Amino acid sequence: MRRFTIVVHGGAGALASEERGRAAAAGCLEAARIGHRILAEGGSALEAVQAACVALEDNPLFNAGTGSCLNEEGRIEMDAAIMEGTSRRAGGVAVITGVRNPILVARRVLDRGRHVLLAGEGAERFARAEGFAPYPPSLLLTEAALDRWRREREGTLPPRPGTVGAVAIDREGRVAAATSTGGTSGKAPGRVGDSPIPGAGLYADDAAGAVSATGHGETILRAVLSRYVCDRMAAGLPAQQAVEEGIRELGRLGGEGGAIAVDPAGRAGIASNTPFMSWAVIEADGRESSGHRCRIP
Ligand code: ASP
Repeated sequence: MRRFTIVVHGGAGALASEERGRAAAAGCLEAARIGHRILAEGGSALEAVQAACVALEDNPLFNAGTGSCLNEEGRIEMDAAIMEGTSRRAGGVAVITGVRNPILVARRVLDRGRHVLLAGEGAERFARAEGFAPYPPSLLLTEAALDRWRREREGTLPPRPGTVGAVAIDREGRVAAATSTGGTSGKAPGRVGDSPIPGAGLYADDAAGAVSATGHGETILRAVLSRYVCDRMAAGLPAQQAVEEGIRELGRLGGEGGAIAVDPAGRAGIASNTPFMSWAVIEADGRESSGHRCRIP
């Protein structure tokens, strides 16, 4: 039996306040506990990261699902993806609205296996055909997100982090990754970030480990950050060193962000080059840790 572990993040960026930082770390821990329970009962890494991600999407504190940020027209367009490391199947949705949990639609894309990524109206139509109930965007919109959007437009507030992600390894040594986001606040309509793109916003390979990224999506895409970190783990680096190398690479491209990882030995890695990143880890023996800072030099 392998060591099973789950690692969760709630986004990297500027720190709004210590209070918010602590609340985000607590939200991550709560989600990690949900995923850990699944792993402890013998469930798969894929089920664990999905369940953790649903909890984070439903928590209005985070920029994913309920609480998603708004684009420049004041609309919510979400990106999400999920990947498993045994067959390296992946499913994602981009620029989707009108669903409560984009990660569940992404999972359905993975299960159907016909495509890897569906975007926009087509993604929403797929969700309906698969029986996902229409969810009015007004229910995804929180007062806090709207207020933030107004103040960001006035230039009185820096964009707030809050993309969510989870990576896990289960008792069988299978790994999985999930990432979900409302994207960047004030983005152009139709913009797709790194989060739903395998290799960029997430990656999973049983032979290497699993990764979920957060931060400036355009740079993460160019760095192919999650695959970059996975390649380092495949070469034998422990998860922590691999994410640190990945974040340095992101920095070389001028990008800000963070990443979490788990390697085949069940070791966790968390790193960012931003002042804030919320995270939580729960290991096989139930040992919990969480925080809202993990900056690397
Ligand atoms: N990476 C996300 C995006 O660019 C945003 C974030 O992680 O804060 O859509």
